[in-house]
Formats: sequence, C-alpha cells, structure tokens
Amino acid sequence: MENTPRIADWDFSKVSTCFHCRKNVAQNIKITPNDSIVTCANCGAERHYIIRSFSVADSKPDFEAAAVRRKYDVWKFTKQAKCFNCAKETGQEITMDEHIGAVVCPSCLFTRIYKFSVYSRPELK
Ligand SMILES: [Zn+2]
Ligand SMILES: [Zn+2]
Repeated sequence: MENTPRIADWDFSKVSTCFHCRKNVAQNIKITPNDSIVTCANCGAERHYIIRSFSVADSKPDFEAAAVRRKYDVWKFTKQAKCFNCAKETGQEITMDEHIGAVVCPSCLFTRIYKFSVYSRPELK
C-alpha cells in the first residue's frame, strides 16, 4: 500500500493559450507522480512542473488570492480517474496555476494539494 496518494500517469490535452506562441491550440499535458509536462501542439514549447510538496486539505486553495503573482491562466479540467480516498471512478476536478494544483474528488470532496516549481522551455523573455 502506498502511504502517499499520488497522481497516476495521466495523459490528456486541453485547448488553451500557449505561453510562448500565444495561439489558442491544444496543450498536451502529461502528469506523472513526480512532475508534469505541458507541451504546445503548435510550437512545441514546454512547461515543466516539478512537484515540491503534497498535502491533503479541507478545502481548495484560494486561487483568486494568488492571482497577483501569476503569469499564466488558471486551468480547470476534469479527469476520469479512481479516487484515492473513496475508490470511486469519478471525474476528478483539477485546478492548477503555475504554483499550485488542487485535485478534488466530487464524490467525497477529498482534496489533494500539490505545490510545484515551474520552468519553461524556451525560457520566457
Ligand atoms: Zn505554442
Ligand atoms: Zn473520492
């Protein structure tokens, strides 16, 4: 048994504005237990999210309060996955910006918070 709930390997894409080429195109998102990589389908620019810490919370973090120090949009999406806590197969609600990510189970409201550092390739000027 794992003691730490982890994100399994997830692969999906989301149409969003690319931080590099600024086109509204598919961003391919790959989430692994240790980091996440977002790659632009148009220009190939990559954003890497290195997971620094993980915690379980009572509620979602306040993404509005963090807006001032944010360069990128907040992303919201759902991913069909098995909840670590209640073991139901549900659409886990994921909210993330470049500092923090929250995964909430709509069935039991189990909330996981991931803090990460982000770097991009190519670097933003
Ligand atoms: Zn791009
Ligand atoms: Zn659950």
